[in-house]
Amino acid sequence: MATKKFFLPESEIPTHWYNVAADLRTPPPPPLHPATHEPIGPEALAPLFPMELIKQEVSGERYIEIPDEVREIYRIWRPSPLIRATALEKALDTPAKIYYKYEGGSPAGSHKPNTAVAQAYYNRQEGVKRIATETGAGQWGSSLAFACNQFGIECKVYMVRVSYGQKPYRRSMMQVWGASVVASPSADTNAGRAIREADPDSQGSLGIAISEAVEDAAMREDTKYSLGSVLNHVLLHQTVIGQEAIKQMEMAGDYPDVVIGCAGGGSNAAGLMFPFMKERLEGKRNTRFLAVEPASCPSLTKGEYRYDFGDVAGLTPLMKMRTLGHTFMPPGIHAGGLRYHAMAPLLCHLFESGDIEAVAYRQNACFEAATLFARTEGIVPAPESSHAIRGAIDEAVTAKEEGKSRVILFNLSGHGLLDLAAYDDYLAGKLVDDEYPAEKVREAMRSLPEIP
Ligand SMILES: *Cc1c(COP(=O)(O)O)cnc(C)c1O
Repeated sequence: MATKKFFLPESEIPTHWYNVAADLRTPPPPPLHPATHEPIGPEALAPLFPMELIKQEVSGERYIEIPDEVREIYRIWRPSPLIRATALEKALDTPAKIYYKYEGGSPAGSHKPNTAVAQAYYNRQEGVKRIATETGAGQWGSSLAFACNQFGIECKVYMVRVSYGQKPYRRSMMQVWGASVVASPSADTNAGRAIREADPDSQGSLGIAISEAVEDAAMREDTKYSLGSVLNHVLLHQTVIGQEAIKQMEMAGDYPDVVIGCAGGGSNAAGLMFPFMKERLEGKRNTRFLAVEPASCPSLTKGEYRYDFGDVAGLTPLMKMRTLGHTFMPPGIHAGGLRYHAMAPLLCHLFESGDIEAVAYRQNACFEAATLFARTEGIVPAPESSHAIRGAIDEAVTAKEEGKSRVILFNLSGHGLLDLAAYDDYLAGKLVDDEYPAEKVREAMRSLPEIP
C-alpha cells in the first residue's frame, strides 16, 4: 500500500524563513509614498509596524532566523502533514499523483497563524501592548486574536458589520481568545463615526475596517497595526509551509511538476511556492506554479500591473501589483478571503517574469471540487481552498487526457467547518456564479494614481 501521510518530527520545524527576494532575477519595484510618489524608506512605516517587521519587509537576506518562542508556538500544529489524495486520485481515475499540504490543523483552522504568531512576537519584543486590525469574515481576526493571546497582547478587531451579524462564530472564537471585537463602522474612531453619521445603516466593508484599524494604531502610542496577507513579511512567514513540504515530498519519493495555491492576497500560495521557486530560479528545476483566483475578483488574470493603494481609503503606501482598482468592491462570494482587489507585489513580480501562472474559476465549480474532495479525502475545505482543489483536479484531468503521469502539490489552506452556510447554499443550488464585473473594474481603475 502506498504511504498516504508524511509526518515530520517537531525537530524539523524550519529554523529560518526563506526570503525569495534574495533570489529574484530582478529587484521588485519599490513601494512609493502615497502623496509624493517617491520611494519610501522604512521610517515611513514605523508608526504602524514594529521595526523588526519593517526590516523583514525590505530585507534582501535569503534566510531569516525564526525566534525560538515562535517555533515553540508553531509546535502546537507544526509540522503540518503532507497527505497524498489517493481516494481523490481514484475517483478521478487519473495517472496523476495528487499531494496536499494541510494547514487547517492550526488553532484558527488556516495558514494565517503562521504569520500572526510571528507578528505578535515582534510586537511584544518592542513593547507594544495592543494591536488593532480589521477582519472580513473573521479568519485573520481569529488568527491574530489567538497569537496576541499567546503573547499577552491586547487585540482589537474591527469586523465588517455584515459579517459580524452573519458569521457570529468566528467572532466567538476571537472573544474566547480574549480579543475585543466591534462591528465596523464603529463609534470608536473618527472614520467610523463619520460613516455612521452619513449612513446609519452602513454594512461596512474591508476598506472601512482597515481605515478604522489604521487610525486606531496611528492615534495610540501603545498600539500597532497588523496585516494578514499581501506584504513581503507576511509571505516570508508563510514559507514554513513550503520548506516542510520539500522534505515531505522527499519522503514520498516525488517532486512536484506543478505547485498550486488559491490566491486572495497571495500569502498561502507564496508560502507553499517560494521554497520550491528557489530551485526554479536557480535553474535546477522547471516546476510550474499555478495561482488560482475567483472569477469575480481576478486580479492576476484580468488586473493591470500598476501602482495602487493596498486599501480602499488610499492610506497605505503605493505598491506595484496586479490590481482591479483599490475602490473595486467584489461581489459577495463565499470565499471571503479571496475578495481582495490586488495581489502581493512579490507574487505579481514572479507572474510578470513568467514564473507563476494564474487561472480563475467561478464559485460553483469550486464548491463542486470541494464537495468531491470532502467525499473522497474527508476534509471539508474552506471555500478559499476550494479554488486550489479545482486547479489540482483540472491538472489531474489534463494528465489523464494526455495519458501521462504528473505530480501535483496543492495547499489546503484551511478547513470549512465555520463556512457550512456556504455549503448549504451550494447543495441547495442557490450559489450564484457572478459575471466578471467588467464595468465596475473599469470604473475603479479610473481612481488609480498616475505614476510615470
Ligand atoms: C485568508 C485565507 C486565504 C486567502 O489569503 P491568502 O493571503 O491569499 O492566502 C486562503 N485560504 C484561507 C483558508 C484563508 O483563511
